[in-house]
This record gives sequence, structure tokens and C-alpha cells, in this order.
Amino acid sequence: MIVTTNEEVEALKENAIIVSKTLAEVAKYIEPGVKTITLDNIAEEFIRSEGAVPGFKGYRGFPGTLCISVNEEVVHGIPGERVLKNGDVVSIDCGCIKHGYYGDSAYTFPVGGVNQEVMDLLQRTKESLFRAISMAQAGKRVGDISFAVQEYVESFGYSVVRELVGHGIGRQLHEKPDIPNYGRKGSGAKLTDGTVICIEPMINLGTKNVVQASDGWTIRTSDRQPSAHFELTVIVRKEEPEVLSTFSFVEEVLRPERII
Ligand code: MG
Ligand code: MG
Repeated sequence: MIVTTNEEVEALKENAIIVSKTLAEVAKYIEPGVKTITLDNIAEEFIRSEGAVPGFKGYRGFPGTLCISVNEEVVHGIPGERVLKNGDVVSIDCGCIKHGYYGDSAYTFPVGGVNQEVMDLLQRTKESLFRAISMAQAGKRVGDISFAVQEYVESFGYSVVRELVGHGIGRQLHEKPDIPNYGRKGSGAKLTDGTVICIEPMINLGTKNVVQASDGWTIRTSDRQPSAHFELTVIVRKEEPEVLSTFSFVEEVLRPERII
């Protein structure tokens, strides 16, 4: 959506902070031995305690509050009996609804000790998100955001998932415009002041190719190498982009050596 009033900005910001805090609440419990359904239950309880409702649960029939995607799973993993192991990385994607508006944010966490090659993938994927956010200025184009992600991550030999993209957000979870994580500088739609978008690089260590699992939801890399995913919501502005969600709550929870 394109925001035109303070009330709209405040409502979207409230949702953005709820999902940001939910990720931090979940972060407290991410360790070897935890079941992904346990994390899902913690998230649902927290979201409801904030007067919101889970944004993904029931969305096109998705069964969880969170999308929990482990290692080679890119996005849309279904919470269940899977137990996280030392050395895993887990993408947690969280949505909520309050006052009729959506929040949507994701962070990829290490579980216990993770090898340096994969920690680098996580750190650089997160960095690509911040580089992309800096392009969310009125007058720039969608392709400027896309290129910022692609140029940075490909310099490390990583690949950008093509099938899944960032998006506008507002009264719907997924609105126009699409925000691909690959593209040409100066291409695509012009960004206008007040447009609210979720930027969410999904970056693979190996091939860009992905496949859908037989559960009908989970997307994984076709070579089964790991993938990373980070997502924040930002309002396009004439000057500095207005970032609504934040990783600061998550990073207060993570021990210093686990912050990526
Ligand atoms: Mg998301
Ligand atoms: Mg999203």
C-alpha cells in the first residue's frame, strides 16, 4: 500500500514491531533439541498476547504461525515434530495482523555451532538486505533494490532465488509491487513516496534452483545446500527510507558470538 496518513504508518509500525518482538521471543528457545512446533506455539502465544493474530495461519491453508525452514529449506517450511540439531541454520518467518494491517519479518538463526562458510552466508545475506533497504527512496526503481542484493551476494559466489520475491504489504500480506532480489539497476517500476514494501533476500550457498517438497509448501534448494533468508518492512521515502521492523530485539537475545 501507499501510506498517506500517520494512522496508517502507526498501524503498520505496530505490526512490524510485533513480528520483530515475536522473532526475539522465539530466538530465546532456538537451541539443539527443540522441536519446530514448540517454536510455533511460542510465537502464536506471543502474537495473541500482543492483541494481534497470526498472519500466516490459514493463509491459503498454511497450517503454522511461523514458516520454519531448516538448512536447504529456503522458505515456507511447516512447523512440526522436527528437532533442530547442532549445526543447523533455521529461517523463521513471522506474520501477524492487527487493526486490519499485516506485519511480516524473517531472520535466519544458527543452531548451536555452525560452520564458518554457512555463518558467512547468513551474515552476507543480512548485509544484502540493508544494502537493498538503502535503495528504497522515491525516484529510484525496483531494479535498484534488486541489483543491490544480487550484486553483493553474487560477489561471494552465492545465488539468488528467482521464484520467490519481496512484496508490497498493507491490508493484504502480499501486494504490488513485487521486489525481486535480482535485476538491473535503473529497471522496473519507479518507487514512490509512502510505498510500503517487504524486502526479503533468499540467498543460496550453491545453485539458485529450488524445488517444492511433497508437503505442497516447503521450498528447498535443488542441490540441498543451505539457504538464508532475512526480511524487513520499509516505507519508501524521499530522503532516508523509513524502516518499520527491526532485528534489534532478536540481536539483544542472541549471545554475542551468535550474532551474525
Ligand atoms: Mg515473511
Ligand atoms: Mg514477506
